[in-house]
Amino acid sequence: MTYITRADRMLVGGKLVHASNGEFDESINPATEEVIGRTPRATADDVDVAVKSADTAWPAWAELTPTARGRIMRDFGQALRARADEILRIEVADTGNTITPMRGDVGVAIDSLDYYAGLIHELKGQTIPATHQNLHLTVREPYGVVVRIAPFNHPLMFAVARTAAALAAGNAVVVKPPETSPLSAMILAEVARDALPAGVFNIVTGDGRTVGDTLVRHPLVKRIAFIGSPVTGRAIQRSAAEVAVKHVTLELGGKNPLVAFPDADPEAIADAAIRGMNFSWQGQSCGSTSRLLLHEDIYDRVLPLVVEKVKAIKLGDPQDPASGMGPVNCRTQYDKVLAFFEAAKTDGARLMTGGKPPAGKPFERGFWVEPTVYAGVEPGMRLWQEEVFGPILSVGRWTTFEDAVEKANGTEYGLTAAVWSKDINNALRMVRRIRSGHTWVNGCSAHYLGVPFGGMKNSGVGREEGIEEMLSYTELKTINIVLQ
Ligand code: NAD
Repeated sequence: MTYITRADRMLVGGKLVHASNGEFDESINPATEEVIGRTPRATADDVDVAVKSADTAWPAWAELTPTARGRIMRDFGQALRARADEILRIEVADTGNTITPMRGDVGVAIDSLDYYAGLIHELKGQTIPATHQNLHLTVREPYGVVVRIAPFNHPLMFAVARTAAALAAGNAVVVKPPETSPLSAMILAEVARDALPAGVFNIVTGDGRTVGDTLVRHPLVKRIAFIGSPVTGRAIQRSAAEVAVKHVTLELGGKNPLVAFPDADPEAIADAAIRGMNFSWQGQSCGSTSRLLLHEDIYDRVLPLVVEKVKAIKLGDPQDPASGMGPVNCRTQYDKVLAFFEAAKTDGARLMTGGKPPAGKPFERGFWVEPTVYAGVEPGMRLWQEEVFGPILSVGRWTTFEDAVEKANGTEYGLTAAVWSKDINNALRMVRRIRSGHTWVNGCSAHYLGVPFGGMKNSGVGREEGIEEMLSYTELKTINIVLQ
């Protein structure tokens, strides 16, 4: 067994520590099933220490001037940049995501720190003309301790980019990394220890039930931000509600439609369908447009192009820049994808390519499945309704405008949607009817810094990635100055 990093400590109160009981969880490379590192298995007591450290640290952090706080955040970003190559190598080995697009993740993390550092001066209140003789105003105050719970698909990026707003608003954070891909957090712990005041940034590793749930229920935690599955999101809302009144925001799953009108260019739709699936991280993306809804007039023209392009995706070692897709993240994900292959068979979807694990070398070990397309997918099928979070693209057809609206909206989810048409009127009419939080016209997949991202329906609560996210980490206090 060869560990790819010796870093194996969490960050609690400015110190790099092991779990108090000395226990660890080992992490495996999903491409090979080799053990590649270890992380502390934190206890409930360790979580308590981390939260209390954050609670001690935030008042001084919040009292820094916006300029001073922003400067520290930017320096934190530069310190991450200095270890970007190391982080990338570890992240690719630990997640299975392919290396070329994953280069962007550290960049997004740093850009987000810069963006929110620059927005701190916008934490403004208002004056309100409620009475003529008095002064009524609002100020924004941090919650204090913010908990961030992250999923496995972009661990480092979520740990940094999705805590930057909370830090900017003057909170201290406690991050809970995903248990199947926690190794990059061990490097992050070292960087944050040196870059930020003690206790402002804490990392506790371990499982969801012990570490996650203890964080959610902790009496000093009122603000919880979660990215992950809808089932866990609801469990978090439940746990939080059992113990107190808490502010919980949720970024959850999606079964996102890409609706193509007959006037759109078939080649461009096929390219968008591939890009929108994010095969380079095995379709493990909440925003993946995993339902391609083609107008009946172009269905037979676009489908073969899509299949051809999916067949061309090169499955292989995620560390190889030429690979277009790696293994899925873990055995649970692997079993889930295989179960969807079975469900597709039972439901009568038409397999166009993939639908099985690849044979031969180097795929004997690891969690490999082929990039997959099913056609003839219809609203009653599991593939239509349920998020796979894997490399399966489902293709269905529509006839009238209303048929497309109904089909696009016909799931419990509402995270993203893409509409393709050369006619901007058609596209906008459609986009306005689709109940999704983040939409693209003639685009797909991309997030844009500063543009809010989040879901409607069971895809979530709240918006992240824009100024709204920063404001969501503050409580509004009103001050009424009664003049004598
Ligand atoms: P998950 O819900 O299984 O786990 C996410 C995190 O929650 C992990 O850190 C886990 O340890 C923790 N957790 C588990 N049980 C918990 C509990 N009871 N209390 C507190 N924390 C708990 O999700 P996953 O499998 O890691 O990620 C896949 C899911 O994440 C998909 O549904 C995907 O769509 C979603 N996701 C959403 C977005 C978004 O921005 N909307 C982005 C990425 C992923």
